[in-house]
Amino acid sequence: MSNHTTGSPPAGPTAAEPLADGPIDAEPKPALGPLHDVAVIGAGPVGMFAAAYCAMRNLDTQLIESLPQLGGQVAALYPEKKIHDIAGFVSGTGGELVENLSRQLDLYGEHIEIHCNAAVRDLHRLPDGTFVLDTGASAFHTRAVLIAVGAGAFAPRALPIAYDHTLDGHGVFYFVKHLADFAGKTVAVAGGGDAALDWALELEPYAQQVFLVHRRDTFRALESSVERLRASSVEARTPYKFTSVTAAGAAAATATDFPADFKSEFTIGSETGSGTGSEPGTGGTGSGATLHLGLEHLKSKEPADLEVDALLVNYGFTSDNHVLRDWGLPVTRGDLIVDEHLQTSFEGIYGVGDAVTYPGKVKLISVGFGEVPRAVNHLAEALYPDRKQPLHD
Ligand SMILES: Cc1cc2nc3c(=O)[nH]c(=O)nc-3n(C[C@H](O)[C@H](O)[C@H](O)COP(=O)(O)OP(=O)(O)OC[C@H]3O[C@@H](n4cnc5c(N)ncnc54)[C@H](O)[C@@H]3O)c2cc1C
Repeated sequence: MSNHTTGSPPAGPTAAEPLADGPIDAEPKPALGPLHDVAVIGAGPVGMFAAAYCAMRNLDTQLIESLPQLGGQVAALYPEKKIHDIAGFVSGTGGELVENLSRQLDLYGEHIEIHCNAAVRDLHRLPDGTFVLDTGASAFHTRAVLIAVGAGAFAPRALPIAYDHTLDGHGVFYFVKHLADFAGKTVAVAGGGDAALDWALELEPYAQQVFLVHRRDTFRALESSVERLRASSVEARTPYKFTSVTAAGAAAATATDFPADFKSEFTIGSETGSGTGSEPGTGGTGSGATLHLGLEHLKSKEPADLEVDALLVNYGFTSDNHVLRDWGLPVTRGDLIVDEHLQTSFEGIYGVGDAVTYPGKVKLISVGFGEVPRAVNHLAEALYPDRKQPLHD
């Protein structure tokens, strides 16, 4: 870890006590770890870059992640999707972005401690102004906190119709881990946003046929994606809504064409709702189509149907960032309220990425990346007022 030559660390902590304006009032239970400058909570893409940037500023940094892996939504939900809207990152996949961010972290490894499988449950402020992050098993001690928990625990929005949920992971999917799993299949993608169009276009070279089913005639996606869609072989079915999703007959209900480890996961950070496509008799691909999709034209009300091997649902996500409220932090609609320095109303507690909101906030990776230097440079100045701020001339 780095040796700082300027600024003086606060005096040793005494017992935790609630502050009049402080977020948390419980006593820390596990033994307190060594004092660091910054603790970044959450190692999604924005938290990973935040930890690297803190280290560039010679700040002793801890990066604390609840999952066993780094990369947040990108690693968990779309490692094989191409990302087109990050400056200087030309059509790389989500997995490649996380790999690059890991390499960037490695460059500054001497300043960074990474702790995975560590979900921060509690945040305390000690009387000396330092903070304790409690995971139950460990108590991380830090002078400043950078919250990058993204959407927190989140789950995909389900198809808004009643259907047999044993099909989830066995024909009906909410995530794509491996595009190659869909090779030669007929796939319907449900949704009309960026993610739905991206997946339809990513699947096109693998699948035998891709349909895109959306309830409007227009798509809520990047204009360039809409143009690519029009030029592709993806068949749009608009404006249609789903009326039924059923296994297309017991005889075809085998799962043997999907690899044994083919998984659909429904939440991040929890075990709920995951399944494999390998259990027999649960739907799957078989030699013919295995899902019957009932549709209805939104204007004419005419029924229609599709027979497909797989349905990929892309209706966005619901998120649960209740921990932020539990910590007593200022939150609106689940998002952390921050000022122009990305600081919360509590001195020393900052937020970046999908977890935060302010006027004009857009939840994109590039926006989160841009917030990082603003937050970190401000907190570095607060911790070490004698240090020069970075300038390029
Ligand atoms: C299917 C899909 C496609 C997308 N495509 C794009 C795209 O092409 N371009 C783009 O810019 N954006 C895209 N996005 C959005 C993008 O993924 C998010 O904006 C980005 O992941 C936000 O990064 P983050 O680091 O703020 O949060 P996240 O990626 O959500 O990471 C937060 C991390 O914090 C951890 N965490 C949560 N709570 C705790 C806790 N209490 N203690 C410790 N750790 C915790 C989580 O486990 C997670 O790893 C897409 C999103 C989806 C779902």
